[in-house]
This record gives sequence, structure tokens and C-alpha cells, in this order.
Amino acid sequence: MFECTGQDCGETFSEEQIKYKCDSCGSPLRVKREIEEPKYEGQGIEKYKEALPIESDFVTLQEGDTPLCEASGLANRYDLNDLFLKYEGTNPTGSFKDRGSAVAITRALEYGYRSVTLASTGNMAASVAAYSSKARVTSRIFVPEATPEGKTSQVRAYGGELIRVEGDFQECLYKAKKEARMGSYLAETGLNPYYLEGEKTIGYELVKQIKEYYKDKKIPDTIITPMGTGGLLSSIYWSLQEQEKLGLIDKIPRLIGVQAKACSPIVDAFNEGHRRPKPPTTRGETIADSIHVKVPINGGTAVEAMEETNGFAVQVDDEHMIKSIFEMGREGIFAEPASALPLAALKKIFDPEEDDLNLDKDDSIALIVTGNGLKESELMTEKGIEK
Ligand SMILES: [Zn+2]
Repeated sequence: MFECTGQDCGETFSEEQIKYKCDSCGSPLRVKREIEEPKYEGQGIEKYKEALPIESDFVTLQEGDTPLCEASGLANRYDLNDLFLKYEGTNPTGSFKDRGSAVAITRALEYGYRSVTLASTGNMAASVAAYSSKARVTSRIFVPEATPEGKTSQVRAYGGELIRVEGDFQECLYKAKKEARMGSYLAETGLNPYYLEGEKTIGYELVKQIKEYYKDKKIPDTIITPMGTGGLLSSIYWSLQEQEKLGLIDKIPRLIGVQAKACSPIVDAFNEGHRRPKPPTTRGETIADSIHVKVPINGGTAVEAMEETNGFAVQVDDEHMIKSIFEMGREGIFAEPASALPLAALKKIFDPEEDDLNLDKDDSIALIVTGNGLKESELMTEKGIEK
């Protein structure tokens, strides 16, 4: 069934038909089913199918199984015990979104849909185009008129139908919702409840990899992720709750979410002590465009996840984000700008001038590096950003 994620709502709905929000309060929904301990059979995220709402064969490009690298150079530099980078850039279309797309598009087939739609400007557009083509369903993807060619080239290559819309993302979302009302499946990150189920696999995989490859290490005490809609942090939290319940971990790591200073509605909501992020009133610009989300649909559950794990929220400016891209490069990891936020946040937390942010240097820390830098490689040319 679907369960409303709205605070104090608790409304539930049948999964017989896809639903994108709660009829009572308008909040996003999540999937609630009985889950079992994963058998770790198959490839990629199929390993966790006992914890996923899938009944048929997966539509898969073998997403998942991404590297968990020990960043010993960075750990030495910042005097940390254990630091891990979970590098999602090796997913089939270059970002963590593929985990969610695999589950969302598999469910589209189970519901009998033949066409998929969404509004996006970046990673999700590429991912949904690829998985739709793999599933032999059509995809219509709405992007703002001003979206640069570089961002849409993946969609074209995968055979998605690209529609440029006069206006911003909200206008694109309006068009995609209209398309969905005419019979298409809406694969929107924050609105499709199956998408977030796929994202849970990052949390499962992280725990499995520590146990398998780093036997002398503990499960991370702290996990730091970038936040756009807030969906990634929420789904990692849900996976950790499930794993605690299944007896796979003893305690749930602290969760820290990071946003760019130019657009940080979830950080503001957390710091102000409420669960409903308000759109920023100033018009800021950031190079981290993949998380430049003014209306973060899953912001409420992200705030809740940080509160319940004794975590916190951090905002970082572009200058420090850029420095972190180059620092991660020295570990052999090429991150897109938004993916450098967790490292930039870590440095800010340990900055002696930031005395209201606290973390123990003996903690084992994992940073989620969400996307591949090759997607925005023009930034790294000599004419692009400065070191
Ligand atoms: Zn509700």
C-alpha cells in the first residue's frame, strides 16, 4: 500500500493504481510492504529485491554495485579515522538516479503503461530515457527552453522525446502532470513513490560492502549526502530503519544533508525547526544545478530523518564546492558539482570557526558522491572553473 509521508496524516491508499500524492494533505507517498532480509542474489539492485516492491523481472541495466572507496588521502589530510566515498557515478547513465529508475520503470510495466513522462533538467531525464527505452516504452521529457545542449544529449542518445518548454522547471512539471493525466506514467523523482524505493538500495549496498570488503571496519557512524528534493536522504534513512529491524545493523548512522548556499530550503527548514521547506525568497545561482530545487517535495521526510538520527543540515557555497571537486579528483573520483557538497560540508564541520557544527573525528564517515563529473566536464576545461 501507499502511506502518506505528511506529518501526523497517516492516510493509506491501495497500490492497485499508481498515486502521486495524498488525497487528504497533498504530501508525497511512500510504499509500505512487508519486506524480508535480502538474499543478495542476482546482479545490481536485484540483490535487494526482497526489500523492493517488485513482482516481475527487473528492467535493469545492472545499476548498483558501485564502488565504495576508502579515501585514505583525504582521511590523512583531515586527520580522520575512516572516510569512505560511495561513488554513484559508475551507474549506467552516470548517476544514482538509475537505482530509482530501474524500480519505477519496472513498476510502469507491471501497471501496463506504454508511455512515461517527466520534467527534468539533468540526471533524471537521462536515466528515465535510458530505462524507458530498455523497457520498450516511450518517454516524453519536458525541459526548460534554456537547458543547454550538453545536458540533453544523453536523452537524445537514449531515444527519449525531448520537449523544450518556454519557462522554468515548474512550467515543465505542469506539462508533465498534464501528460500523465492523459494516460502516461509520471516518473518524477519526488512524486513517484517507487522511485524512492529503488534509492533505498544505496543504504543496503553500503552496509553489505562494509561487511564484505572492510571486515575490520565498522558500519559508518555518519553518512553525508547532497539534498535536492530531499528524496535521497529520506530513502537512505528508510533503508537503514529496515536494516535495523531486520537485525542487519545495530544502530542507525547519523544523517547529514547538504545544500548549496544559493538554494537551501531544506537546510533552512531544519534550522528553523519546522518540516515544511519554504521556497527561497532570494534568487541565488549555483553551479550545482542538479540539486537546485526550490520546492523540495521530499524535504519534510529529509528533515525528519536528520532529526531522528541526531544529524544536522549544512549549506556550502560554490567556492568550497569547487575546491572539493579537485580534492576528490586526487582520490581518483571525478564528481559533478552537487556531488562535491558532502566533502565541502565535512570540511566546514571541522572548521574551528564553525563551532555550532560538531562531529567526532573518530567517527567512521561515508560521503555519497551522487553523479559523474563527465556529465558536466565543460566546467573543468581551462576556460571553466578555476582551481
Ligand atoms: Zn496525507
